[in-house]
Amino acid sequence: MFDLKNCPICDSDQKHEVRKAPYYRGEREHFSIVECDNCGFWWTNPSPRGEDLAAYYESDDYVSHTDGKGGLLDFVYRTVRSRAIKSKIALLNRAQSNRKLLVDYGAGTGAFLAEAKNQGWQSMGFEPSEVARRNAKKKGLDLRSPESREELEENSVSAFTLWHVLEHIPDLNETLAYFNGRLIKGGSLIIAVPNHESADAEHYRNHWAALDVPLHLWHFAKKDVQALADMHGFSLDQIENMPFDSFYVSLLSEKNLWAKQRPLHAFWQGLKSNLKGAKSKNMSSLIYVLRKK
Ligand SMILES: [Zn+2]
Repeated sequence: MFDLKNCPICDSDQKHEVRKAPYYRGEREHFSIVECDNCGFWWTNPSPRGEDLAAYYESDDYVSHTDGKGGLLDFVYRTVRSRAIKSKIALLNRAQSNRKLLVDYGAGTGAFLAEAKNQGWQSMGFEPSEVARRNAKKKGLDLRSPESREELEENSVSAFTLWHVLEHIPDLNETLAYFNGRLIKGGSLIIAVPNHESADAEHYRNHWAALDVPLHLWHFAKKDVQALADMHGFSLDQIENMPFDSFYVSLLSEKNLWAKQRPLHAFWQGLKSNLKGAKSKNMSSLIYVLRKK
């Protein structure tokens, strides 16, 4: 286990435990989430790295690496994903008119890239899971291992997209610096991450499914993304709500808490979160549109 003593945003070594969350994908373990006393950033600490971290992804429940196995949650996940992909592409098209190269970082099985390609984007992706890369290859997509990311030329990318990926990446600051170096001036960095200040996060507390310890190493709020944008040479241009995520995450959280499906309770929590977060941009998950200065 890796103990990250200093806050990756402000470097303070003062922190306190703010959540103690169970691992729900396999044999029960608990992981602490700490909050920086200085800037308020949350991270899972201590957390596994390398092969230890990889082992937590090998659970059968890790749905984004495979293409279907049935069940209510799986059905909701897929329905949400296909509807969400269309709105993600629309957002990308609005954010970036230069279509030189789109890079989806953490591309899963490539569903988003496939649709971007259909809409005329020159595109490629990085994905650590070999199984996911193999699945994507069958669809004719160019997916590579993140270990080869340095091969991309500087100033060559119009847009990077990270759909629920940044919270998984161990080298947070190095990766953001990498994006800045590879993007063209004015290039877009589009990041979707869970929002621990949402009403559903506060309701489910330690059992909020989007804590997803220890797979999620970082837990973001709006101020954190703003701080990271400032640190790495980006402006934060836009924040968008992801209304479907509130329902999906609430379904998972109910299942975490009660060990069974409680769709009506989940729907109610999802709805409350969306009503509360609509205007203030504070739903369960948020999309951040950053621009290289
Ligand atoms: Zn801090």
